Amino acid sequence: PYEHMQKIREQNISPSLRMYYKKPLLLHQGHMQWLFDYEGRRYLDLFAGIVTVSVGHCHPKVTVAAQKQLARLWHTTNIYMHPSIHEYAEKLTSFLPDPLKVVYLTNSGSEANDLAMFMARLYTRNFDIISLRGAYHGGSPYTLGLTSVGLYKHSVANGFGCSTVRFLLIFLIIWVTVYLNISTVNISSILKVLCVCHANDQYIEQFKDTLNTSVPKTIAGFIAEPIQGVNGAVQYPRNFLKEAYQLVRERGGICISDEVQTGFGRTGSHFWGFETHGVVPDIVTLAKGIGNGFPMAAVVTTKDIASSLAQNLHFNTFGGSPLACVVGAAVLDAIEEDGLQKNSEEVGTYMLLELAKLRDKFEVVGDVRGKGLMIGVEMVTDKDSRHPLPGEEINQIWEDCKDMGVLIGRGGLYSQTFRIKPPMCINKKDVDFTVEVLNTALQKHME
Ligand code: PMP
Repeated sequence: PYEHMQKIREQNISPSLRMYYKKPLLLHQGHMQWLFDYEGRRYLDLFAGIVTVSVGHCHPKVTVAAQKQLARLWHTTNIYMHPSIHEYAEKLTSFLPDPLKVVYLTNSGSEANDLAMFMARLYTRNFDIISLRGAYHGGSPYTLGLTSVGLYKHSVANGFGCSTVRFLLIFLIIWVTVYLNISTVNISSILKVLCVCHANDQYIEQFKDTLNTSVPKTIAGFIAEPIQGVNGAVQYPRNFLKEAYQLVRERGGICISDEVQTGFGRTGSHFWGFETHGVVPDIVTLAKGIGNGFPMAAVVTTKDIASSLAQNLHFNTFGGSPLACVVGAAVLDAIEEDGLQKNSEEVGTYMLLELAKLRDKFEVVGDVRGKGLMIGVEMVTDKDSRHPLPGEEINQIWEDCKDMGVLIGRGGLYSQTFRIKPPMCINKKDVDFTVEVLNTALQKHME
């Protein structure tokens, strides 16, 4: 079936969907941390469908809950009541601190971040949203403005950078605003999204400068991931987020924590990434691990901020379907019953220590970083320059790991970082296997 499927891909499937590996994997089945291909080969899944399969592939509890609900009722949309959305909202918010108690259910992380931005703008009546260099907040046209990972951004950045397009866009905004009587808060600020840069000691000073010079009076919000995911488990300098939140709030902006990758116990020490920074955001956005692979997402905020949206009808056809809510609740149960947050901490710490031994052994392993089961291993030409290892060399190591049965993600501005973010049910034996495989692949690279 492989060649046949390749042919269909070429003809009928979006060419922007890029496959991993020279010969893409044709997968058949999954069980907890394991994936199986059609030839019966088993792979340890260290990327979890891009940090999404939080509790394990086809986790029995989640699967049974979904099956039961599938036979009962899938979808009603939100014009009727059904118990599961109430049960889920109550349960989800029991994991969040006050005042984060109002839930909006959406279908993807991009949608959740779109909504969070929209709320920030309506609530503050301001325009600008600040995001950080290296951030990834989504692939929708709105959130792409916040995303700075170049691979995803090119067309939009170039498009908006081009003066003709910019002129047409401004014209369109004026036209839409005047003729359709839509508030400019909603749309015009798409041109004003900013990024600040440089992860170094002067980070907070640069952040302050950016606020003072670019958005002294017009800041609506600041969005950041507690650990940058797509950028390769990049962590901020100590206290950066705390100080940044304070600066933003002093200027009337609100703070959004994008927990799409860091939520649900993945960082180990805490259930949410923001807790590791000692801050409480005004809005959190959740996706990926929230549904263990079922498409669902959420925005959770305060009563005050939620009320800014309540002036108008805000509607999402699929958000909060009975099926999604039942799956979401079963995922929360599984995290608690299987002790997965604690496991993330224990197994993640062990993994970081074992990988650090590879960093000490191989010149090309420039950095091992992260927290819990959110780990980045950066591949470099040498530890002094820390230039990214050339793509073909990284690819070879990565392909070799796959051939030995370990699937690893890629990230970073140059795709130079191996991303290890497995289902949170992996154990220390899996770590030993991973380290052995990586060691063999790196050894081969050195020869
Ligand atoms: N935020 C973060 C931190 C993400 O990593 C992603 C997806 N990689 C998104 C938002 C967007 O989520 P989705 O692909 O579900 O729209």
